[in-house]
Amino acid sequence: MASRSGDVTMNHLVQAAPLRAQITSIVQAAGSSPEEAHKVAANLVMANLSGHDSHGVGMAPRYIDAVLEGGLQPNTGIKVLLDTGPMLSLDGQRGYGQITGEQAMLMGIERAKQFGVCTFALGHSHHLGRIGHFAEMAVAQGLVSMHFVNVLSRPVVAPFGGGDGRFGTNPCCIGIPMGSAPPFVLDYATSRVAQGKMRVAYNKGEAVPQDWLIDEHGHPTTNPGVVVVPQSNGLFGALRTFGDHKGFGMAIACELLGGALTGGGTWHRPADNQRAVLNGMLTVLIDPVRLGTQDAFEQEAAAFVAWLRESPPAPGSQGVLLAGEPERQARVLRERDGIEIDEATWQEIQESARKVGAKI
Ligand code: NAD
Repeated sequence: MASRSGDVTMNHLVQAAPLRAQITSIVQAAGSSPEEAHKVAANLVMANLSGHDSHGVGMAPRYIDAVLEGGLQPNTGIKVLLDTGPMLSLDGQRGYGQITGEQAMLMGIERAKQFGVCTFALGHSHHLGRIGHFAEMAVAQGLVSMHFVNVLSRPVVAPFGGGDGRFGTNPCCIGIPMGSAPPFVLDYATSRVAQGKMRVAYNKGEAVPQDWLIDEHGHPTTNPGVVVVPQSNGLFGALRTFGDHKGFGMAIACELLGGALTGGGTWHRPADNQRAVLNGMLTVLIDPVRLGTQDAFEQEAAAFVAWLRESPPAPGSQGVLLAGEPERQARVLRERDGIEIDEATWQEIQESARKVGAKI
């Protein structure tokens, strides 16, 4: 691994392949089969490659802590609770979300091809990582996919009008195939920014914009540490939702659909210190071919996107991008140039390797 000095800390620059091998060793040493460890590592590294360091290898130390605490069960797949054909109710049994999420998606994709639609509920899965990964699986098969996800870890997001954290960063994701053009993959946390990005900013010693966070007293702050480490009174601050009351509404929809409707559970208790992060995910898959609109869909989608791209770049902007493009662009650059990992995150990874006796 090469390393170089950044402005604030020493950053490590590492290529995807050795990083995958290192994270695989750690996850395997924590009890996973070689196949599972490789899948988890590949998923995390893909998040880094896609530009989402918040959901990349920096999550591995937390996963290892969760395994050691018993909140994350290695080598555990989904259990089918109900199967009516196009509707599935699945239990992730606290297995790695990289495994349970993919298993659920493979089942859902098969059913959507068979019936035209599939709705599946996945509860009690450990952290599903970057939700766009699942939308990318669906659009690769020509399917539209919608995902509503809640997060059971720490109530880190404040309700609109509220002064403390009451729920998680509840991501929402919509994947739409675009015929021969690259797909639209909208994938975002309903918080103003992902919690993991605050960990990365805190580790780098960076300040964040004023309207992203409130401190432990409910006041606006630029210090990402308020949601990363306990503050003077032992309490945390909170993230705000995106888009004021509208983003707040979307976050609640994710909690109600991803948490309540799936049976995985909603958050309604004070924070604890457990390291496991559980996700509930409601997924709806649609096959446009079976809907009978495939030709019109492809033509209208292509015409609309062409029209959109004709918009002149706003002053100081690079022009219009479609969701999914920033991630594809990042992959090209990071596959070539390597992935930067900040010193604090790298130390956490080293420490978790030591905890499980992995040599990296
Ligand atoms: P973000 O704010 O970077 O937004 C990402 C989305 O916006 C992507 O769809 C991207 O293509 C699109 N986008 C970015 N710039 C754009 C531009 N200029 N024009 C058009 N579209 C643009 O993402 P985030 O909210 O920080 O979320 C990051 C990741 O965190 C996501 O993959 C999400 O699934 C994941 N996440 C997971 C959990 C979990 O518990 N599993 C919780 C929260 C977030």
